[in-house]
Amino acid sequence: MPDELLQRLRRFHDHAFPQYRTRFRQLVDEGQHPTTLFIGCSDSRVVPYLITGAGPGELFLVRNVGAFVPPYESDAGHHGTSAAIEFAVLNLKVQHIVVCGHSHCGAIRAMYEDVPPAAKHLGHWLDLGREAVLPVQPGPEALRRTEQRAVVLQLERLMEYPMVRAEVEARRLSLHGWHYVIEDGEVHVFDLASGGFVPASSAEHSGSGPYHDLPGSGIPGDG
Ligand SMILES: [Zn+2]
Repeated sequence: MPDELLQRLRRFHDHAFPQYRTRFRQLVDEGQHPTTLFIGCSDSRVVPYLITGAGPGELFLVRNVGAFVPPYESDAGHHGTSAAIEFAVLNLKVQHIVVCGHSHCGAIRAMYEDVPPAAKHLGHWLDLGREAVLPVQPGPEALRRTEQRAVVLQLERLMEYPMVRAEVEARRLSLHGWHYVIEDGEVHVFDLASGGFVPASSAEHSGSGPYHDLPGSGIPGDG
């Protein structure tokens, strides 16, 4: 009896793949030309293809704990997320970068708690969001605000990547800050003009903004 995962692989190949065969053949022959770099949290409840309605070849995905963007650094470390950003902008020439945080994010909550000593990489990684932490007890409202502030923090860090800044200033690239509310199925998009997050149902844009005008700190609810 094949195990569960093997059964799923066979089911995909036999039943789901045939309807995509032509599309994948085209993507192999012509190469991939995704228009969007999607930086999302690894959380299993965030499903980028469902949320955006994208199909094969449309999203260049980077997922990590918290949907964080590391600082642009020139040391010799293994900067996986940074490498993906460079590749997406320089090689794929994407037109959009989405940073998508979400409700009930374990990474955001973990910043208010002690990280187990054995998780030394995790503790260091969470430093990328700490600037968004509020000096309050982490109730539901504070956590939501922290999740949103963390998204804006990553957008600001993206602008420190020279190739990102150059493309944004040339208006060939737009940045989008999203906060996905799992239980509502709705993305709230960051609006640079107001500094707040607006539900997609009432938003006037998907979060693009003149990020070259971004002030030092655009984190909503600062202070
Ligand atoms: Zn998360």
